[in-house]
Amino acid sequence: MTLIIAEKPSLARNIADGIRHSGAGDPKRRDGYIEIGEYLVTWAFGHLFSLCDIEKYSPQPNGSTRWSMVNLPCFPQEFSFELRKNSDGSVDPGVKKQFHLIRDLCCRPDVDRIVNAGDADREGEIIVRLCVSHAMEGQPQKPNARLWLPDQTPETISQALTEMKDAAAYDNLANEGLARTYIDWLYGVNLTRYATLKTGTLMRVGRVIIPIVRAIYDRDLAIRNFTPDIYYALISRAETNGIPVELTSKEKFPKEQLAQAQAMCDRYNAQSAVVTSVKKKKDILAPGKLYSLSKLQNFLGKKYKMSMSESLEIVQGLYEKGYLTYPRTNSEYLATAEKDKIRKIIESAKKLGYPLVFKESKTIFDDSKIESHSALTPTYKIPNKSQLSEREMMVYSAVFRRFAAVFCAEDCVVHRTEIKIALGDCEEFTLKGMVIAEKGWMKYDDSTQKDRTLPPLNKGDIVQIDFRPVEKETSPPKHYTIETLNNYLKNPFREDKAKAAKENTDDTEEYRAIFEGLELGTEATRTGIIDNARKSGYIELKKDVYHILPAGEFLIESLSQMGISMDKYKTAEVGRSLKRVFRGESSVRDSLDIAQKEIAHVFAPKEISLGEDTDIGFFGDTVGVCPICGKEVTRTKRGYGCRGYKDGCKFGIFSPLCGRAIPKSAMEILLRDGRTPVLQGFVSKKSGKSFDASLKLENGEIKFDFSN
Ligand SMILES: [Zn+2]
Repeated sequence: MTLIIAEKPSLARNIADGIRHSGAGDPKRRDGYIEIGEYLVTWAFGHLFSLCDIEKYSPQPNGSTRWSMVNLPCFPQEFSFELRKNSDGSVDPGVKKQFHLIRDLCCRPDVDRIVNAGDADREGEIIVRLCVSHAMEGQPQKPNARLWLPDQTPETISQALTEMKDAAAYDNLANEGLARTYIDWLYGVNLTRYATLKTGTLMRVGRVIIPIVRAIYDRDLAIRNFTPDIYYALISRAETNGIPVELTSKEKFPKEQLAQAQAMCDRYNAQSAVVTSVKKKKDILAPGKLYSLSKLQNFLGKKYKMSMSESLEIVQGLYEKGYLTYPRTNSEYLATAEKDKIRKIIESAKKLGYPLVFKESKTIFDDSKIESHSALTPTYKIPNKSQLSEREMMVYSAVFRRFAAVFCAEDCVVHRTEIKIALGDCEEFTLKGMVIAEKGWMKYDDSTQKDRTLPPLNKGDIVQIDFRPVEKETSPPKHYTIETLNNYLKNPFREDKAKAAKENTDDTEEYRAIFEGLELGTEATRTGIIDNARKSGYIELKKDVYHILPAGEFLIESLSQMGISMDKYKTAEVGRSLKRVFRGESSVRDSLDIAQKEIAHVFAPKEISLGEDTDIGFFGDTVGVCPICGKEVTRTKRGYGCRGYKDGCKFGIFSPLCGRAIPKSAMEILLRDGRTPVLQGFVSKKSGKSFDASLKLENGEIKFDFSN
């Protein structure tokens, strides 16, 4: 018998359907598994195992599990997994029961082969691998195979069962998955505990969540601090033959130069404007590319204000019902090996009346732009409207309509017009227009371009002009939207470069960056991490726009005081090392070493002069004695304060003060000697200027002292 372990119950049911499809008779339901022909099909519930906590590797001497610096940082030599626990720390009885059942099935003497049917990604790979390795601990090994499914239709499944590879072919994928899991643990557990102990506030620190929150923080701060520049543009909107013709000059004037702007307008208006050429041409527009997950999420966010977590959940459901292909894909291309499958989907759609045709094109089929999954497409199973909910229909039809646009038999034909107008020898103006003549594929694509019509001008016509200075404002940067944040995370290093990579331009560079691991997070993880940042109260999503929240500002500002930078450069360095593991070029240990080195750096003592010190110590640290009441002064969440506050003592200080953290070392000196050495880098709230100063005690109050 062959034992198949699926990642989830729904996949197990689909696999049993696929086996029946190949003529194996009817499935028999057993307790926790399905028996059909030569197969036993069972399932996990996603992750049955999770990594053990720090206390497993380095318990505190007193056996306490309270967070403490005693066992930080923790870099386990060997990582251990344990059965997944509930939030209260108890083992989930359902998880335990299912694992015992999997173990019993693995060990059945008549089972001579075990098949990993995790989802076709690194997470699915390790979910089932961990079940098998724990189940077979101390047992003689059995042959292992991998069932790899690009979609969950019965035909694909029965076909894939005949083409299974040995599980070892996926060892690199599993290694990358494990390395990612370990590294996220190292960052998450060590730095979350450290930052929380320092600030006295729960800080959810992670390798990818921090650069995401930081990006939104930086952008919102830039918007808050933006002061618009006023300038004058020279614009003419005079009518020619009763139709307004808008001409905008390339010249601009700063706000002090209104007189010069007016003078230039007068000079322009003294000239005559003549149409020097009118060019018309017919053009054929290419449709957009098929959707990757994030491009689909961008579209749904923009059109329906659908959050990424909602769209992913719906796409996942449609995949499990067999209507869409594997969703967590980062490619907008199809594998050349899938041409027959695509032909079949096109046939199904044609039966429903869609005018589609198979196309051989490098803009559709390109193996060099696929890591492990093709773009999202419908399958040959096309649902009726009545089979889908309203929200499901929005998502399904977005994917289906893009597919129909790409394979549409009809071209989209447009007429383009370009009119050139010369204003004496002062300036030449170019007006561009476009009219859609035949819609073609645009019938199916929502990102339809609008017509831009031009006034009916002919060569030699005189255009009426009336240039005037028009007051304009430079505009602030824009808040991140679902779309722009996704684009940034996919390629965080492109931003400053040319704003290329619009649809239909060459995207080879972009794919190279993704395959090298330069992106922040992955197509499979990003949605969950952003959702986590929202649930933690660091950011919020209003319609499809992200904003930083006070807790997120506190997080980023506290981390930078602690010297935890976790910027995109460091995150990308780890990302690159994980991709090397995936390609078999380096070991799991190598990539762990890179992460450990960086984490160790946070914990290492810093040699820094007191003037530059920003180390605030740990929440609860005692820094000296209150000059008013004699009780202890300790680190609080927002600075330092007297323990006698309940008895009415108000002694204390906020940190940061004028934008600068007050270090523990300075507080100790202040309370001991009454004055600190000069601290550098305060910023005046009023003037925005930076200054250096000592702090001194004066009649039980803390004051700036500029005498040094
Ligand atoms: Zn006091």
